[in-house]
Amino acid sequence: MNICLYGGTFDPPHNGHLEIAGQCRRQFNIDRVYFIPAFLAPHKTDVTITAVSHRLAMLKSALQPYSGFNISEIEIKRQGISYSIDTILAMKHEFRLNRKEIFFLIGTDSLKEFDTWREPQRILNECQVIVAGRPGYSTDSIPEKYRKKVLVLSNPLMDISSTDIRQKIRLKQPVDDLLPRQVLDYIARNKLYHI
Ligand code: ATP
Repeated sequence: MNICLYGGTFDPPHNGHLEIAGQCRRQFNIDRVYFIPAFLAPHKTDVTITAVSHRLAMLKSALQPYSGFNISEIEIKRQGISYSIDTILAMKHEFRLNRKEIFFLIGTDSLKEFDTWREPQRILNECQVIVAGRPGYSTDSIPEKYRKKVLVLSNPLMDISSTDIRQKIRLKQPVDDLLPRQVLDYIARNKLYHI
């Protein structure tokens, strides 16, 4: 069984997340993608992140129409700062996977700051890292030292970020094309991102 872990803050989840997870399933023969909301993202400890209960509920509604997309609450249950290496080791153990069967999906922007992650070399040794291109961070910009150690996803570059969506909602600009309808309804019902 091939499993891909896909960690993020998902604040909110958007069409960019769904697109690359779908491409990843098709291109690398992945049986299940596990979306893993971070309890506390290591590089976002100084910014305000929406309550994890809301982020989880939005993710559930975003993934509801898809088979093969699952959610793992492993980082929420663990609490504290969510380090990917801990999650990778725990998921490998839980599903009894070897390196060939476990994948870890990130955007090129995340790979750029990979050196600042906890145990980056060990992450590369324990699983197969798949890198998705993002506008401003095409896969051509993957640092040389990682190029041979990662798998590169072939994906349309989607100019969508959660930061931009939150900003647009605050400014009352349309975001309908950027995230699933049911997530937008959840945001409206719970008055998220408005000031
Ligand atoms: P924020 O703007 O709040 O930082 P984000 O849009 O980057 O959020 P995250 O939940 O932090 O979303 O992203 C999780 C992972 O998905 C990261 O590895 C990120 O690089 C990747 N990712 C997010 N959006 C895209 C996109 N449009 N294209 C490719 N990768 C993406």
